[in-house]
Amino acid sequence: MPNIDEGAKVPTASTWPSAAAAGDPLTESPSAVFDTALFDAIFFDRDGTLVLDQPYNADPELVIPVPGAVAAVAAARRAGLHTGVLTNQSGIARGLLTAVQVRAVNRRVDDIFGPFDVWKICPHGPAAGCRCRKPAPGMILDACSTLGISPFRTAYIGDIGSDMGAAHAAGATGVLVPTAVTRPEEVVQAALVAKDLAAALQLLLGASSGSTR
Ligand SMILES: [Mg+2]
Ligand SMILES: [Zn+2]
Repeated sequence: MPNIDEGAKVPTASTWPSAAAAGDPLTESPSAVFDTALFDAIFFDRDGTLVLDQPYNADPELVIPVPGAVAAVAAARRAGLHTGVLTNQSGIARGLLTAVQVRAVNRRVDDIFGPFDVWKICPHGPAAGCRCRKPAPGMILDACSTLGISPFRTAYIGDIGSDMGAAHAAGATGVLVPTAVTRPEEVVQAALVAKDLAAALQLLLGASSGSTR
């Protein structure tokens, strides 16, 4: 089964390199130069990170953003960074939802957050041994290929240990934002932990990035 690539929105050569230059980051925030020097993109886990975890959700109506998540993604974009969502959706392999339903849910996420630059979905189950199911790094590497950037200049924010495993395996900077489902040992093992997405963005981009303006 091929990796489903959600019609990734590939920036054109004429637009994507200008992201850092656009909006004159020097005047937007004191940390902007530091920001863009370290990262080209911030990638997010979907369930439990951007939206409240609704296991095997097939219904766009059930998409509810995590409080503060929309503002955090906006802060990343303001810093001139690409944004993307990388999500395990084994419900497809398990026959609990269809790829079409997953796409509909993802469109709802794009509607709420504004369109992400790239989406990568792993439709496989744990036994498939695919290269994309987290903690494998495939989705991060593929998202970087789509954007034409290095994984070393990306961060991945998620709520469980397999998110951090994928980040580590890809050479990305992982940040754990724990939820009720996060196991204590996953918090202990994570190199970077933040209490919410705003704090994660501040950790990655500097103190001013999480502020609302
Ligand atoms: Mg999650
Ligand atoms: Zn996969």
